[in-house]
Amino acid sequence: MENCIFCRIIAGEIPSMRIYEDQDCIATLDIGPAAKGHTLIIPKKHFADVTDNAPEALLGKLMKVAASVGMRQKERLSAAGFNIVQNNGEAAGQTVPHLHIHVIPRYEGGPVMVAWEPTDPGMDALQEVYEILKD
Ligand code: AMP
Ligand code: ZN
Repeated sequence: MENCIFCRIIAGEIPSMRIYEDQDCIATLDIGPAAKGHTLIIPKKHFADVTDNAPEALLGKLMKVAASVGMRQKERLSAAGFNIVQNNGEAAGQTVPHLHIHVIPRYEGGPVMVAWEPTDPGMDALQEVYEILKD
């Protein structure tokens, strides 16, 4: 897709540091890493986000590649663990509207970067949401 920064990376028009590539996707270092080794898994075909009808096999593949990149971060960078993060929509922090998965290594003593404050809405409020969301 024209003017999509990740499509341009895939096409080689913008340089990238690819640590893995196959026929479906690339894994490339994030230019603004949240931690050393922060990597993006990007499908070669353009999909806006995870709701944009990417084939199930491709979505599964992206997750498998994310897991293997996470293991590589642990083995080669001595990361203690990693977060897999995937943003959908501007409100969720998505800045590049081309489906991608973040693999963010975590180091002992490092900052907590993917976190939220748990709340206690009570059973009535939970039940209300359950009725709205269930099948
Ligand atoms: P998101 O906020 O989930 O859309 O993530 C987009 C990510 O793409 C951000 O973490 C950016 O740092 C990263 N990014 C933007 N431009 C580039 C680029 N040219 N090469 C590598 N990463 C990039
Ligand atoms: Zn694109």
